[in-house]
Amino acid sequence: MADGKNTDFCTVCRRETEYMLREDTVQKLIRGKEYSFKVYHAFCSECGEEMDIPGLADYNMQSIDRQYRQMENLVSIDDIKKLMEIYHLGKAPLSYALGFGEITITRYLYGQIPSREYSDIIRRALTSPRYMNEQLEKNADKLGITAYRKAKKAARELTDAFGVSDKMLVAISYLFAQMQEVTPLALQKLLYFVQGIYLVLVGTPFFEEDCQAWVHGPVYENVYNLFKNFKYNPIEDDRFAVFRERFAELDQTEKKVIDLVIDSFGLYSGKTLERITHREQPWLEARGNTEPSASREIITKAAIKTYFEEVAGRYGVDSADGLNAYIRAQLSSSSS
Ligand SMILES: [Zn+2]
Repeated sequence: MADGKNTDFCTVCRRETEYMLREDTVQKLIRGKEYSFKVYHAFCSECGEEMDIPGLADYNMQSIDRQYRQMENLVSIDDIKKLMEIYHLGKAPLSYALGFGEITITRYLYGQIPSREYSDIIRRALTSPRYMNEQLEKNADKLGITAYRKAKKAARELTDAFGVSDKMLVAISYLFAQMQEVTPLALQKLLYFVQGIYLVLVGTPFFEEDCQAWVHGPVYENVYNLFKNFKYNPIEDDRFAVFRERFAELDQTEKKVIDLVIDSFGLYSGKTLERITHREQPWLEARGNTEPSASREIITKAAIKTYFEEVAGRYGVDSADGLNAYIRAQLSSSSS
């Protein structure tokens, strides 16, 4: 809000003066519940009187709306717009598709705050193409045939594109939420380490997918296809909304393992991680004597588990310190 020099007309000083913005809290009663919101007030730098700055009241109102939705975990107007874009649905067709009245979505787009129940339906539609598909089926007779076909096609494409297990989906969702930037190459390696460490600490696989020994290290093929589909910056792709907030489905241990990987392997580039995996037994064994580019042999979960049990014995895998010691050892033993 505050940047550069802010000046406006002060009615006390009777001339243009500089003002300062100060954060304040206001209490509001909404649907019978008390909330406190952060707002900004402007004060004249010379006389100290509060000033009425054009646009500031609007800014505060929008900000309160945002804060309220965040506190109550309700979908935003942007979320609704995203849903319309992803499924190529207009306001009324989207309303019908979700089982709402004709103008419900229109009212939300104008700022009306959805109820918890409707907000949850919208979020679910946004984060699960399967659910959206069910809704489209259920409400097909209320939708025009063209809208129905377009939306169904989008749902089908999304379901195919996200052809990864739910566990894999939430793991990726959590990695995205915690890290600023993850390249597809780095993501592949991080998932592999998550699987390895989880196998040691818990004894069972984190996700059901098997990875393959590709030239550039272990690769989960369905994850690879997913990102091939989304090309450049997947995180900015609207369709990636399906990854949002799915990580709430992780339990404490699952989160802990991913955090461990982020605080150790997550500090390195995809290329460096590739170098590490190239020195590890599971990848080397799966590659065997195959031609450099040909192999897509599966790296078995058993092989991964055995290997990381060894790592655990030598360095410990239940702390970032242990993992970082392992990484340093791998990177310094220079046999490329
Ligand atoms: Zn003044």
